[in-house]
Amino acid sequence: MNRFEYLRPESVADAVKALASSADARALAGGTNLVDLMKYDVARPSCLVDINRLPLRSIEETREGGLRIGALVTNSDLAWDPRVRKQYPLLASAVLAGASPQLRNAATTGGNLLQRTRCYYFYDPSTACNKRNPGSGCPAIGGVNRIHAILGASDNCIAVHPSDMCVALAALQAVVHVEGPRGSRSIPFAEFHRLPAEQPQRDNTMEAGELITSIELPDSDFGPNHTYLKVRDRLSYAFALVSVAVGLKIGDDKIVEARIALGGVAHKPWRSRGAEELLQGQPPGEAAFDRCAEAILRDAKGQGENDFKIGLARRTIVRALRQAAAGTPQNQSDKSVR
Ligand code: SF4
Repeated sequence: MNRFEYLRPESVADAVKALASSADARALAGGTNLVDLMKYDVARPSCLVDINRLPLRSIEETREGGLRIGALVTNSDLAWDPRVRKQYPLLASAVLAGASPQLRNAATTGGNLLQRTRCYYFYDPSTACNKRNPGSGCPAIGGVNRIHAILGASDNCIAVHPSDMCVALAALQAVVHVEGPRGSRSIPFAEFHRLPAEQPQRDNTMEAGELITSIELPDSDFGPNHTYLKVRDRLSYAFALVSVAVGLKIGDDKIVEARIALGGVAHKPWRSRGAEELLQGQPPGEAAFDRCAEAILRDAKGQGENDFKIGLARRTIVRALRQAAAGTPQNQSDKSVR
């Protein structure tokens, strides 16, 4: 049995103090990933800091016309908030594509950013894994790697980030607010998650003792021309093999602005500014969509079992762009792919 301390602070300052007190301390919110990791003996925190009493459960409008989402807002409350549904339907759609209703009722916005990869080896302490045990090796390379990365992988790790919500947050250019022993700071979403490189044990750029307090969404008018298209092995309660979040602004039959982010393909939500720029000024159509997909996947590399993901990603990107341009977003209540 692994013994651990359990603390339940009443303020953000006390929570940060508790998290900074030990390198192994972990924040506990919905517990939908951390508790599993503890049961599997993958995570062994010396201290659990239960943050559920902190005042981080509200969604507030910002002066700039966006929304600030408290870290403890559940996935369900986020997806069904009328302001989110109206102004950020792309985000609502992505959240509803993830997990199950029961999990979404417990899982939190902050926790979603911190969930760990679903690589089979990572969850099996009897195997080597550089993410779980740095320096031990990566058996997924040359092993069972059907769900693994085709972009941004390293010789040390080819895992992917499992979130749906984060793919939409990347496309919407959210900002993550954190509080830590050295004060508060704001991290642009593109800089929050990291690629594995030499340190696959580090999923993100948070420092020791820091706590996510909120996620801010800038003003957005991608309303009608968006889609979150998720392709998976079954239509419910499965992680994405490939997912694509698209937001388009269209005027005078031309694409004025494009945002596109991919999930299930890399260690972080994958965004290609170069590919987005290729769409600008173009009439929405197959030629432009094909060029965009080609640009995003130019450096894609399969690992054997997951080679199929490159073609799948190409088709999913084109289809997502087509859906967004036509204003016919994927319906996450009726997930059938037509
Ligand atoms: Fe571990 Fe990453 Fe390799 Fe999976 S892909 S076994 S998480 S190092």
